[in-house]
Amino acid sequence: MGNGILVLNAGSSSLKFSVFDIGGPGVLDAMAVGQVEGLGTAPHLKAKGADGSVIADQRWTTSEVATHGRALQEIATLLRSRFAGQELAGVGHRVVHGGPDYSAPLLITPQAMEKLATFVPLAPLHQPHNLAAIRAVQEARPELPQVACFDTAFHRSHDTVVQLYGLPYEYFERGIRRYGFHGLSYEYIAATLPEVAPEIAAGRVVVAHLGSGASMCAIHNGRSVSSSMGFTALDGLLMGTRPGNMDPGIVLYLLEHEGMSAKEIEELLYKRSGLLGLSGIGNDMRVLQESDSPRARLAIDHFVYRISRELGGLAAVLGGLDALVFTAGIGENSAYIRRRVCEQAKWLGIDLDAAANEQAGPRISSAGSKASAWVVPTNEELMIARHTRVLLGL
Ligand code: AMP
Repeated sequence: MGNGILVLNAGSSSLKFSVFDIGGPGVLDAMAVGQVEGLGTAPHLKAKGADGSVIADQRWTTSEVATHGRALQEIATLLRSRFAGQELAGVGHRVVHGGPDYSAPLLITPQAMEKLATFVPLAPLHQPHNLAAIRAVQEARPELPQVACFDTAFHRSHDTVVQLYGLPYEYFERGIRRYGFHGLSYEYIAATLPEVAPEIAAGRVVVAHLGSGASMCAIHNGRSVSSSMGFTALDGLLMGTRPGNMDPGIVLYLLEHEGMSAKEIEELLYKRSGLLGLSGIGNDMRVLQESDSPRARLAIDHFVYRISRELGGLAAVLGGLDALVFTAGIGENSAYIRRRVCEQAKWLGIDLDAAANEQAGPRISSAGSKASAWVVPTNEELMIARHTRVLLGL
C-alpha cells in the first residue's frame, strides 16, 4: 500500500489537485498542489512543490486536453515523474452535494455513485464534474479506494426550522431546503480554532468565507448552526459573479417580461452578476480595490453591506457574538475589506486593531474588544485528505 493521498476538486473546466504524504498520527504533509485549467478551451497545467517552487507549467492545444480524464492522465504523469517510487493509498474528492442525508464523507461504491448522481439536479453546474473525476480515477486506477467529501455535510447539524423555506411542506420533503455550502472550509476552521484561538473555540462564532464564492456560517461550540447559503450556492452574500440573496420575483419577471430562458437566467445568475455585474470591471477584489471607478466603489460598498446584514442575522441566530473569523481569498488577503466589515460591526462589540489587521493577525481585534475578530487561513484540501485518511483507515 502506498503512502500518498491525492485530493481532487473538479470544476466545470478545471481539475485542481493536491498530494499529501501520510506521516505519523495526525500528520499529513503537502507534497504538491496544482491544477489543469481551461479544459477544452486553453488547457494549462500549473503545479508547485512543497516549497512553493514551480514543478509544472505546460499548455496544450484545445482538443488535446478536453476532459477530466485527460487532465488526470497529465497529473498522473507529472506525479510519477516527480515522486517516482511513491504510491497512492487513496483519493479524496470534493463533492459539492451530499443531499439531505449525508453528514459525513462517503466511501465510493457503485451504489454510492448511483445515489450521488441523484443529487445532480440540486447542483447541476458542479456535481456532474465532481462525479466525472471519480469515474476518471475508477477507469485509470480501479483498485484505488476513493472517498467523497461533501460541501453540504458540515451543515447537516442545522435544525429543521433553519432548513425550511416557507413553501408548502411537501417541497421540503422533496428536498427543496436550505443545505448550505463551503462546509469543508468551515469544518477546517472549526477544527483549527482550538489551536489558533482556544478562547473562542467553544463560543458563538461567525465565519466569513470570502472568496470568489462567498458565504457566512454561524458556528456554536464547533457545530454549524446556520449558513447564508441555501438550496444552491447562489444564496446569501454578493459574490464574484453571483448576486447572492434576491427576491425570487425577479426570476419570474425575467422569465415572463424579459423573455429570458431558464438557461439564460442561469448564466446571468452564475456568471454575469455579483462584483463583476455591479462594477462592470471584473470579479477580482484586488482590481476593484485599486480602481477609481465609481461603480467599482459601489460594488465594494454593496459587498460590505451584504456581509454586515448577514452578520447581524447570524449573530441574532446565535444569541450574540463572541468572534468573527475571516477566511478564503478576500478574507485572508484584504485588510481593507476586513477593516470595512469590522467598522460596521462595532455595535456587536468588535474593536479592530489596525496594525494587527494589516499583518493579518491571526487576532485582529484590540485586547479590550468585547467580541474578537480573527484571520484564519482555510485549507479545504487538507480537510479532505484528513477525512480520506480516517475513512480508509490509513
Ligand atoms: P478564493 O476563491 O478563495 O481563491 O478567492 C479568490 C479571490 O480572492 C479573488 O477573486 C480575489 O478577488 C481575492 N483576493 C486574493 N488576494 C487578494 C488581495 N490581496 N486583496 C483583495 N482580494 C484578494
